[in-house]
Amino acid sequence: MKPAPFRYHAPKTVDEAVALLAQVAPDDGRILAGGQSLVPTMAFRLARPRHLVDINGIEALRRLVVEDGALRIGAGVRHAAFHRPVVEGPLGKLLSAVVQHIAHQPIRTRGTFCGSIAHADPASEWCAVAAALDALMVARSVRGERVIAAREFFQGIMSTALAEDELLVEVRLPLLRPDVRVGFSEFNRRAGDFAIAMAVVLYRMQDGTMAESRIAIGGAEAAPRRIEAAEYALKGRAPTADAFAVAAEVIARQLDPLEDNQNTAGYRRDVACTMVRRALEQAS
Ligand SMILES: Cc1cc2nc3c(=O)[nH]c(=O)nc-3n(C[C@H](O)[C@H](O)[C@H](O)COP(=O)(O)OP(=O)(O)OC[C@H]3O[C@@H](n4cnc5c(N)ncnc54)[C@H](O)[C@@H]3O)c2cc1C
Repeated sequence: MKPAPFRYHAPKTVDEAVALLAQVAPDDGRILAGGQSLVPTMAFRLARPRHLVDINGIEALRRLVVEDGALRIGAGVRHAAFHRPVVEGPLGKLLSAVVQHIAHQPIRTRGTFCGSIAHADPASEWCAVAAALDALMVARSVRGERVIAAREFFQGIMSTALAEDELLVEVRLPLLRPDVRVGFSEFNRRAGDFAIAMAVVLYRMQDGTMAESRIAIGGAEAAPRRIEAAEYALKGRAPTADAFAVAAEVIARQLDPLEDNQNTAGYRRDVACTMVRRALEQAS
């Protein structure tokens, strides 16, 4: 199939893009970033936007910089930018490990980090990372700029706190101290498929025990989130298989997994628990 007819707009600045979006969003206008989620749905006519505001020509959105203790990822930055660590230390290491799980190479050269965050597929790896790190999303519209915390941003399956006329201009990930240990694990049946469940974990060692732990689950529920009860279960414990098993048990009780025609909720719960154990083992 071919997409339904639409009008194409190619702004050169962020101001121009948000002004256009203000005009066309009420008439089903959408941002076009990498097109790796939007264009297939248009080709199947599951989406029929009347206007596309293409942000690929906006130089200012290609920023990928460290500023004020955070990695700032502009809306034009592609997944492939993370194939090599973009910052020293655990954050760069985590991002370059995670990116390998996103689709396939050609999709990673077009698709954008911020596009994944705005699209909010429950099985998006970047969304799980954003939840784990308490990322900040910077949204711009003609009304101005606002910063949205990850826990308010992800609201459900492909549902976010972004208003229809807001452009996600940047995502900010806090830099991690050099002694933070990181782990990521996901399961899918074929390489490149969307994950059935994934876990992102972080912790620091303090006097031989785990401190400041983070555990986020993606893919299993409608939106990625930190599971604070499981993080608490690790507090003050040595990084042993027993401690990891306790965290996995907490995850099992806390999750409300999605079901589909290939995966029951129970299966997704089991996979999520295994991913947590594996991610914690990797971190240790
Ligand atoms: C075969 C295949 C396999 C895939 N596998 C995976 C996978 O394993 N994991 C994964 O995470 N993704 C996967 N993807 C999706 C891919 O990562 C996309 O790149 C990503 O979801 C969307 O990014 P994009 O830049 O292509 O956005 P687009 O497709 O251009 O846009 C997606 C949606 O987000 C909106 N949008 C985009 N950018 C912004 C912005 N800056 N502000 C506001 N709204 C915006 C658009 O209007 C649209 O509604 C896969 C895609 C394909 C085709």
